[in-house]
Amino acid sequence: MKTVYGVIGDPIEHSLSPVMHNAAFRHLGMDCVYYAFRVTLEDVRDAILGAKALGFGGLNVTIPLKERALEIVNADPIAEEIGAINTIDFKDGIIGYNTDGIGAKRALKKHNISVKDKRVLLLGAGGAARAIAFQLAHDGAGLIIVNRTAPRAVKLAQDVRGVGDAIGTDMGDLATLVKKVDILINSTSVGMHPDVDKTLVTADMMHPDLVVFDIVYNPIETCLLKEARKAGALTIDGVNMLVHQGAESFRIWTGREAPVKVMEDAVRCALKR
Ligand code: NAP
Repeated sequence: MKTVYGVIGDPIEHSLSPVMHNAAFRHLGMDCVYYAFRVTLEDVRDAILGAKALGFGGLNVTIPLKERALEIVNADPIAEEIGAINTIDFKDGIIGYNTDGIGAKRALKKHNISVKDKRVLLLGAGGAARAIAFQLAHDGAGLIIVNRTAPRAVKLAQDVRGVGDAIGTDMGDLATLVKKVDILINSTSVGMHPDVDKTLVTADMMHPDLVVFDIVYNPIETCLLKEARKAGALTIDGVNMLVHQGAESFRIWTGREAPVKVMEDAVRCALKR
Protein backbone atom coordinates (compact mmCIF):
# COMPACT_ATOMS: atom_id res chain seq x y z
CA MET A 1 0.00 0.00 0.00
CA LYS A 2 1.29 3.47 -0.86
CA THR A 3 2.47 5.68 1.98
CA VAL A 4 0.84 9.10 1.76
CA TYR A 5 2.63 12.39 2.49
CA GLY A 6 1.28 15.89 2.05
CA VAL A 7 1.45 19.61 2.64
CA ILE A 8 -1.27 21.50 4.50
CA GLY A 9 -1.86 25.25 4.16
CA ASP A 10 -4.25 27.88 2.84
CA PRO A 11 -3.90 28.83 -0.01
CA ILE A 12 -2.14 25.70 -1.21
CA GLU A 13 -2.88 25.26 -4.93
CA HIS A 14 0.43 26.85 -6.04
CA SER A 15 2.63 24.73 -3.73
CA LEU A 16 5.61 23.14 -5.50
CA SER A 17 6.09 20.54 -2.75
CA PRO A 18 4.03 17.80 -4.51
CA VAL A 19 6.11 18.19 -7.71
CA MET A 20 9.35 18.13 -5.71
CA HIS A 21 8.60 15.15 -3.43
CA ASN A 22 6.82 13.03 -6.02
CA ALA A 23 9.86 13.43 -8.29
CA ALA A 24 12.05 12.19 -5.41
CA PHE A 25 9.80 9.19 -4.65
CA ARG A 26 9.65 8.22 -8.34
CA HIS A 27 13.41 8.55 -8.73
CA LEU A 28 14.09 6.28 -5.73
CA GLY A 29 11.34 3.80 -6.72
CA MET A 30 9.52 4.33 -3.41
CA ASP A 31 5.83 3.38 -3.15
CA CYS A 32 4.83 6.78 -1.81
CA VAL A 33 2.70 9.71 -2.98
CA TYR A 34 2.53 13.36 -1.91
CA TYR A 35 -0.58 15.59 -2.14
CA ALA A 36 -1.47 19.21 -1.30
CA PHE A 37 -4.39 19.70 1.12
CA ARG A 38 -6.17 23.00 1.75
CA VAL A 39 -6.61 23.26 5.53
CA THR A 40 -7.81 26.35 7.41
CA LEU A 41 -6.58 27.49 10.83
CA GLU A 42 -9.72 26.15 12.52
CA ASP A 43 -9.11 22.67 11.12
CA VAL A 44 -5.37 22.32 11.64
CA ARG A 45 -5.63 20.11 14.76
CA ASP A 46 -8.15 17.75 13.12
CA ALA A 47 -6.02 17.61 9.97
CA ILE A 48 -2.82 16.66 11.85
CA LEU A 49 -4.51 14.10 14.14
CA GLY A 50 -6.45 12.75 11.13
CA ALA A 51 -3.29 12.31 9.07
CA LYS A 52 -1.70 10.43 11.98
CA ALA A 53 -4.79 8.20 12.34
CA LEU A 54 -4.84 7.50 8.59
CA GLY A 55 -1.24 6.33 8.64
CA PHE A 56 0.35 9.21 6.71
CA GLY A 57 4.14 9.10 6.51
CA GLY A 58 4.50 12.80 7.24
CA LEU A 59 3.31 16.33 6.54
CA ASN A 60 4.70 19.67 5.54
CA VAL A 61 2.99 22.72 7.04
CA THR A 62 2.86 26.10 5.35
CA ILE A 63 1.26 29.55 5.65
CA PRO A 64 -0.78 30.31 7.75
CA LEU A 65 -0.56 27.16 9.88
CA LYS A 66 3.10 27.00 10.93
CA GLU A 67 2.73 28.66 14.35
CA ARG A 68 -0.62 27.07 15.27
CA ALA A 69 0.66 23.62 14.30
CA LEU A 70 3.54 24.00 16.77
CA GLU A 71 1.00 23.92 19.63
CA ILE A 72 -0.36 20.55 18.46
CA VAL A 73 2.88 18.59 18.01
CA ASN A 74 5.87 17.69 20.16
CA ALA A 75 8.32 20.15 18.69
CA ASP A 76 12.07 19.59 18.48
CA PRO A 77 14.18 22.24 20.27
CA ILE A 78 15.02 24.18 17.09
CA ALA A 79 11.36 24.49 16.06
CA GLU A 80 10.48 25.49 19.63
CA GLU A 81 13.13 28.23 19.51
CA ILE A 82 11.83 29.50 16.14
CA GLY A 83 8.19 29.29 17.23
CA ALA A 84 6.93 27.53 14.10
CA ILE A 85 7.11 24.16 12.32
CA ASN A 86 7.09 23.21 8.64
CA THR A 87 7.51 19.42 8.95
CA ILE A 88 5.69 16.73 10.94
CA ASP A 89 6.89 13.16 11.32
CA PHE A 90 4.52 10.43 12.56
CA LYS A 91 6.97 7.55 13.13
CA ASP A 92 7.22 8.04 16.87
CA GLY A 93 4.22 10.12 17.96
CA ILE A 94 3.66 13.51 16.31
CA ILE A 95 6.99 15.33 16.14
CA GLY A 96 7.36 18.83 14.62
CA TYR A 97 10.47 20.23 12.98
CA ASN A 98 11.45 23.41 11.19
CA THR A 99 13.74 22.79 8.21
CA ASP A 100 13.71 26.34 6.75
CA GLY A 101 16.89 27.38 8.56
CA ILE A 102 18.84 24.32 7.46
CA GLY A 103 17.48 24.87 3.93
CA ALA A 104 18.92 28.40 3.89
CA LYS A 105 22.23 27.24 5.36
CA ARG A 106 22.63 24.53 2.70
CA ALA A 107 21.67 26.94 -0.08
CA LEU A 108 24.57 29.15 1.00
CA LYS A 109 26.91 26.17 1.48
CA LYS A 110 26.15 24.96 -2.05
CA HIS A 111 27.69 28.25 -3.20
CA ASN A 112 30.66 27.79 -0.84
CA ILE A 113 29.45 30.54 1.47
CA SER A 114 30.11 30.15 5.19
CA VAL A 115 28.42 32.71 7.45
CA LYS A 116 30.88 32.35 10.34
CA ASP A 117 32.13 35.80 11.37
CA LYS A 118 30.33 37.36 8.36
CA ARG A 119 28.10 40.42 8.61
CA VAL A 120 24.65 39.44 7.34
CA LEU A 121 21.80 41.83 6.65
CA LEU A 122 18.53 39.94 6.92
CA LEU A 123 15.55 41.72 5.38
CA GLY A 124 12.28 40.72 7.07
CA ALA A 125 11.15 39.43 10.44
CA GLY A 126 8.34 37.05 9.47
CA GLY A 127 8.22 33.26 9.76
CA ALA A 128 11.00 32.42 7.30
CA ALA A 129 13.21 35.20 8.68
CA ARG A 130 12.91 33.75 12.21
CA ALA A 131 14.10 30.33 11.03
CA ILE A 132 17.01 31.81 9.06
CA ALA A 133 18.00 34.20 11.85
CA PHE A 134 18.33 31.42 14.47
CA GLN A 135 20.26 29.18 12.07
CA LEU A 136 22.73 31.91 11.06
CA ALA A 137 23.20 33.06 14.64
CA HIS A 138 23.99 29.47 15.69
CA ASP A 139 26.50 29.37 12.82
CA GLY A 140 28.36 32.45 14.01
CA ALA A 141 27.05 35.25 11.75
CA GLY A 142 26.69 38.83 12.97
CA LEU A 143 23.09 39.71 12.08
CA ILE A 144 21.47 43.02 11.25
CA ILE A 145 17.73 42.37 10.99
CA VAL A 146 15.85 45.07 9.07
CA ASN A 147 12.08 45.08 8.83
CA ARG A 148 9.33 47.46 7.64
CA THR A 149 7.66 47.02 11.03
CA ALA A 150 10.67 47.81 13.21
CA PRO A 151 9.40 46.34 16.52
CA ARG A 152 9.27 42.88 14.88
CA ALA A 153 12.93 43.21 13.87
CA VAL A 154 13.90 44.38 17.36
CA LYS A 155 11.98 41.49 18.96
CA LEU A 156 13.56 38.89 16.63
CA ALA A 157 17.03 40.28 17.33
CA GLN A 158 16.33 40.09 21.08
CA ASP A 159 15.22 36.45 20.77
CA VAL A 160 18.24 35.55 18.64
CA ARG A 161 20.73 37.23 21.01
CA GLY A 162 20.23 34.18 23.27
CA VAL A 163 22.34 32.22 20.77
CA GLY A 164 24.34 34.79 18.79
CA ASP A 165 24.97 38.34 17.71
CA ALA A 166 22.00 40.36 16.33
CA ILE A 167 20.54 43.84 16.17
CA GLY A 168 17.14 44.84 14.81
CA THR A 169 16.14 48.07 13.11
CA ASP A 170 13.84 49.76 10.59
CA MET A 171 14.49 50.44 6.88
CA GLY A 172 15.71 54.02 7.40
CA ASP A 173 19.45 53.31 7.01
CA LEU A 174 19.17 50.49 4.52
CA ALA A 175 21.46 52.05 1.89
CA THR A 176 24.26 52.59 4.43
CA LEU A 177 23.83 49.17 6.00
CA VAL A 178 24.00 47.25 2.69
CA LYS A 179 27.40 48.83 1.98
CA LYS A 180 28.74 47.47 5.29
CA VAL A 181 27.71 43.81 5.04
CA ASP A 182 29.07 40.66 3.35
CA ILE A 183 25.76 38.92 2.75
CA LEU A 184 22.26 40.30 2.05
CA ILE A 185 19.31 37.95 2.47
CA ASN A 186 15.80 38.93 1.43
CA SER A 187 13.28 37.02 3.51
CA THR A 188 10.40 39.42 2.90
CA SER A 189 7.77 38.62 0.28
CA VAL A 190 8.75 41.74 -1.72
CA GLY A 191 9.37 40.81 -5.38
CA MET A 192 7.18 37.72 -5.26
CA HIS A 193 4.77 37.04 -8.13
CA PRO A 194 2.74 39.05 -9.19
CA ASP A 195 4.75 42.05 -7.85
CA VAL A 196 7.83 41.03 -9.83
CA ASP A 197 9.15 44.59 -10.39
CA LYS A 198 9.53 45.37 -6.68
CA THR A 199 12.77 45.33 -4.69
CA LEU A 200 13.86 46.94 -1.42
CA VAL A 201 17.51 47.15 -2.51
CA THR A 202 18.82 48.36 -5.87
CA ALA A 203 22.20 47.95 -7.64
CA ASP A 204 23.49 51.39 -6.57
CA MET A 205 23.16 50.36 -2.91
CA MET A 206 25.25 47.18 -3.39
CA HIS A 207 28.97 46.38 -3.80
CA PRO A 208 30.62 43.70 -6.00
CA ASP A 209 31.84 41.59 -3.04
CA LEU A 210 28.30 41.21 -1.74
CA VAL A 211 26.46 37.87 -1.75
CA VAL A 212 22.76 38.40 -2.44
CA PHE A 213 20.40 35.57 -1.51
CA ASP A 214 16.68 36.02 -2.22
CA ILE A 215 14.48 33.34 -0.63
CA VAL A 216 11.58 34.33 -2.90
CA TYR A 217 11.49 31.62 -5.60
CA ASN A 218 8.68 32.78 -7.88
CA PRO A 219 9.99 34.27 -10.13
CA ILE A 220 13.31 32.38 -10.01
CA GLU A 221 15.28 35.54 -10.82
CA THR A 222 13.65 38.27 -8.77
CA CYS A 223 14.09 42.00 -9.33
CA LEU A 224 16.53 42.02 -6.36
CA LEU A 225 18.68 39.34 -8.02
CA LYS A 226 18.65 41.24 -11.33
CA GLU A 227 19.89 44.32 -9.48
CA ALA A 228 22.56 42.22 -7.72
CA ARG A 229 23.75 40.85 -11.07
CA LYS A 230 24.04 44.45 -12.36
CA ALA A 231 26.19 45.31 -9.33
CA GLY A 232 28.49 42.32 -9.95
CA ALA A 233 27.41 40.55 -6.74
CA LEU A 234 27.11 36.76 -6.34
CA THR A 235 23.44 35.74 -6.52
CA ILE A 236 21.60 32.80 -4.95
CA ASP A 237 17.95 32.18 -5.80
CA GLY A 238 15.15 30.90 -3.55
CA VAL A 239 14.79 27.54 -5.32
CA ASN A 240 18.02 26.50 -3.57
CA MET A 241 16.44 26.95 -0.14
CA LEU A 242 13.11 25.44 -1.19
CA VAL A 243 14.81 22.27 -2.38
CA HIS A 244 17.12 21.94 0.63
CA GLN A 245 14.36 22.48 3.22
CA GLY A 246 12.35 19.84 1.34
CA ALA A 247 15.32 17.49 1.22
CA GLU A 248 15.69 17.74 5.01
CA SER A 249 11.95 16.95 5.49
CA PHE A 250 12.43 13.96 3.17
CA ARG A 251 15.38 12.72 5.26
CA ILE A 252 13.43 13.11 8.52
CA TRP A 253 10.47 11.09 7.14
CA THR A 254 12.26 8.35 5.22
CA GLY A 255 15.73 8.15 6.78
CA ARG A 256 17.14 8.37 3.23
CA GLU A 257 19.23 11.08 1.60
CA ALA A 258 17.01 13.02 -0.78
CA PRO A 259 17.89 13.17 -4.49
CA VAL A 260 18.45 16.92 -4.37
CA LYS A 261 19.29 17.39 -8.05
CA VAL A 262 16.13 15.52 -9.16
CA MET A 263 14.02 17.65 -6.81
CA GLU A 264 15.65 20.87 -8.00
CA ASP A 265 15.14 20.00 -11.68
CA ALA A 266 11.47 19.22 -11.02
CA VAL A 267 10.92 22.56 -9.25
CA ARG A 268 12.79 24.66 -11.84
CA CYS A 269 10.91 22.93 -14.64
CA ALA A 270 7.53 23.57 -12.93
CA LEU A 271 8.39 27.23 -12.32
CA LYS A 272 9.37 27.78 -15.96
CA ARG A 273 6.02 26.42 -17.18
P1 NAP B 1 5.56 36.31 6.54
O1 NAP B 1 5.72 35.59 7.84
O2 NAP B 1 4.21 36.77 6.13
O3 NAP B 1 6.57 37.57 6.56
C1 NAP B 1 6.56 38.52 5.52
C2 NAP B 1 7.71 39.49 5.70
O4 NAP B 1 7.74 40.34 4.53
C3 NAP B 1 7.57 40.42 6.90
O5 NAP B 1 8.85 40.72 7.41
C4 NAP B 1 6.93 41.67 6.26
O6 NAP B 1 7.19 42.87 6.97
C5 NAP B 1 7.67 41.71 4.95
N1 NAP B 1 6.95 42.47 3.92
C6 NAP B 1 5.82 42.13 3.25
N2 NAP B 1 5.47 43.10 2.37
C7 NAP B 1 6.41 44.08 2.48
C8 NAP B 1 6.61 45.34 1.83
N3 NAP B 1 5.78 45.77 0.89
N4 NAP B 1 7.69 46.08 2.18
C9 NAP B 1 8.57 45.64 3.12
N5 NAP B 1 8.42 44.46 3.78
C10 NAP B 1 7.36 43.68 3.47
O7 NAP B 1 6.07 35.39 5.33
P2 NAP B 1 7.23 34.26 5.33
O8 NAP B 1 6.62 32.94 5.58
O9 NAP B 1 8.32 34.72 6.22
O10 NAP B 1 7.67 34.27 3.79
C11 NAP B 1 8.34 35.38 3.22
C12 NAP B 1 8.72 35.06 1.78
O11 NAP B 1 9.65 33.98 1.78
C13 NAP B 1 7.57 34.60 0.89
O12 NAP B 1 7.74 35.15 -0.39
C14 NAP B 1 7.72 33.09 0.84
O13 NAP B 1 7.23 32.53 -0.36
C15 NAP B 1 9.23 32.96 0.89
N6 NAP B 1 9.69 31.68 1.46
C16 NAP B 1 10.58 30.96 0.72
C17 NAP B 1 11.05 29.78 1.23
C18 NAP B 1 12.02 28.96 0.43
O14 NAP B 1 12.23 27.79 0.76
N7 NAP B 1 12.67 29.52 -0.59
C19 NAP B 1 10.63 29.30 2.49
C20 NAP B 1 9.74 30.09 3.22
C21 NAP B 1 9.26 31.28 2.69
P3 NAP B 1 6.19 43.38 8.15
O15 NAP B 1 6.62 42.63 9.38
O16 NAP B 1 6.45 44.83 8.20
O17 NAP B 1 4.79 43.03 7.72
